[in-house]
Amino acid sequence: MGVEWLEDVRAADIDRAGGKAASLGELHAAGLPVPPGFVVTADTYRQFIENAEIDGPLFDAVAVGHEDSAGLREAHERAHALIMDTPLPDAVETEILDAYYEMAGEERIFVAVRSSATAEDLPDASFAGQQETFLNVGEDAILDRVKACWASLFSQRAIYYRNRQGFAHDEVDIAVVVQEMVDAEKSGVLFTSHPSTGAAQMIIEAAWGLGEAVVSGTVSPDNYVVDKRTLRPESVTVADKKVLMERDGQTGETIERPVTDARRAERVLSDAEIEALCAMGAEVEDHYETPQDVEWAMADETLYMLQSRPITTIADAPDPAVEQDGGATDAIVEGLGASPGTASGTARVITKLDHLDQVREGDVIITEMTMPDMVPAMKRAAGIITDEGGMTSHASIVSRELGVPAVVGTQQATRIIDDGQQITLDGDRGVVTAGRLAEPEPAPVEAARPTTPVKPMTATKVLVNVSIPEAAERAAATGADGVGLLRMEHMVLSLGRTPAAYVEHHGERAYIDELIAGIRQVADEFYPRPVRVRTLDAPTDEFRELDGGAAEPIEHNPMMGFRGIRRSLAHPDEFRYELTAFKRLFGLGYDNVEIMFPMVNDAKDVRGARRELEAVGIDPQECRWGVMIETPAAALAVDAMAAEGIDFASFGTNDLTQYMLAVDRNNEQVADRFDELHPAVLRLIGQTIEQCRAEGVATSICGQAGSKSTMVQFLVEAGISSISANIDAVRDVQHEVKRVEQRLILDAIR
Ligand code: PEP
Ligand code: MG
Repeated sequence: MGVEWLEDVRAADIDRAGGKAASLGELHAAGLPVPPGFVVTADTYRQFIENAEIDGPLFDAVAVGHEDSAGLREAHERAHALIMDTPLPDAVETEILDAYYEMAGEERIFVAVRSSATAEDLPDASFAGQQETFLNVGEDAILDRVKACWASLFSQRAIYYRNRQGFAHDEVDIAVVVQEMVDAEKSGVLFTSHPSTGAAQMIIEAAWGLGEAVVSGTVSPDNYVVDKRTLRPESVTVADKKVLMERDGQTGETIERPVTDARRAERVLSDAEIEALCAMGAEVEDHYETPQDVEWAMADETLYMLQSRPITTIADAPDPAVEQDGGATDAIVEGLGASPGTASGTARVITKLDHLDQVREGDVIITEMTMPDMVPAMKRAAGIITDEGGMTSHASIVSRELGVPAVVGTQQATRIIDDGQQITLDGDRGVVTAGRLAEPEPAPVEAARPTTPVKPMTATKVLVNVSIPEAAERAAATGADGVGLLRMEHMVLSLGRTPAAYVEHHGERAYIDELIAGIRQVADEFYPRPVRVRTLDAPTDEFRELDGGAAEPIEHNPMMGFRGIRRSLAHPDEFRYELTAFKRLFGLGYDNVEIMFPMVNDAKDVRGARRELEAVGIDPQECRWGVMIETPAAALAVDAMAAEGIDFASFGTNDLTQYMLAVDRNNEQVADRFDELHPAVLRLIGQTIEQCRAEGVATSICGQAGSKSTMVQFLVEAGISSISANIDAVRDVQHEVKRVEQRLILDAIR
């Protein structure tokens, strides 16, 4: 039989019906709302090429090296011509058209003609998107489109992919689904689990009209993050949907047209629709027992499921199927995913600093906690795993800036992982597994996807955090409006000596020169964009590791101890070296450098700092300077600090959260209680922003939370002047800020 109804097809029929039809048939049988359709079976294709005797020439034509681009192009052209130029047997034509007439009844409906390859959509090899799909196909074009689907089995990308993956061309067949078109009013994509982390969230993308606009990236869709347990939205981002795709009533072709002004910023899905969609997602995921990537559409208030396939992007990490069987994974240790990405390599367990030279290019560093001296080794490493530390620890900050995947706070990695062992870490999920991951597959689909080099223009400035000057170039490449936090302590700690010991060995001038060199590296890269440099803020336990560190006081809790402005004001001699570095930088013309004081509590601290500025000859009226808001006291005293002349106040949410909630940010025992979005923290930030606006003081955030979308939404709505994000988060934050700003404007004019 050349044609079968979708409702008669099941998952086991993949050889005959191809992956897509097998899945649609299975979904239909499971009671999900799949539009009606039929499938032109894979056997029909196979008989077509064999009976016409074009199979031999076809497979000969595509036997080319996968790196030979000219050869690939020729192979594709030859194969395409062989299929398109060979007429369909009459019997096949009749069978397809009869099925169409039966489906259409009296009307002449439009159909979608979709490829359904027999090796497509297997759980471990997502071939999705490699073969053609044609929408809004009218009666006259169906037969031609079926052949075009067959021919698309030999697109350059498909030939390349099969040759590279070692799939024999003659073992992959293709069926074609012919399905009634849904004249979608709205449509999009639903991931039934977070597509990269596998977290218990459903992600929906939705836009007006046909879903092609979303899948092809033509439109920025609304984004809804839904709690999988409650099916309630956790976050709703309404995008500016400039265009939609729809069927042209005359020609039947899919056309793009502008969305009316009123609907551009209108939310596509109501809460009830989200719930219905997610309930459908949950049914599919239950049915397949693995997370699904679903294409859906709505027409006349009816929800349709157009396609569903497994999410393969989670499969690199621990097998989601394993996880579902009771939460077990083959993880050897787990911690916090501190720097995104996956890496495999040879474990190098570093217990003493003098083992650092053992770290070779591509190794994975396993250590209790990273120290500033480790930065050169961290640069060579493929990944970093620590026993201690949270998301804002040295290891996390530096790994993110270097772009090296990291898992921190595992508590036991140095004990459990053997030196020399082959391991893989997942810096998104915080999981370490034994063995190496296969070399990453080429990702032609990803490579072909349009990227958006154009930076969104926002009224709220989006800045970037930099801790190590070596990251300046990467940071500047983000297109950030400046640096919201350049931490000086990483420059100082990497000298290997405490400031006092360094000055004793090398002299004041050398120390100041070092600071200037570090700051310049960043200030040059960003000029004339502003670079906010923070004076030294290293806790005594970090100094103690350095040469000269024996003189450091032993503190019960260094986080609440002798750090930041407290130390600086207690050691004015050392503080003045730093301020002298600023003075010389201003003299060199670096008018983009700004000064920020950490860990201030009140106006008295600010007065002390200002006096020191004046002592080295800096006129506070002539430069931009300000404070970090890292303690509740500082937040509550911001009006008094404004009266001392600060230009800006920047929320250090890493510390503000720990002092607000009494949760040590570096203590993994309470890491689950560290919540920068805690209502108390948000309330304090909100009222401080309001106070600063009244006082004419600019506000910013430079803690880790500035990279989180929910925080960004809150801050933009609260009227913050700028947001400083991690390098890897800048682009997302720019988009998020833009979305919120546009929504605020629209809300205001409506
Ligand atoms: C903060 O406290 O949020 C901050 C940015 O400073 P650090 O992480 O260096 O303490
Ligand atoms: Mg801080």
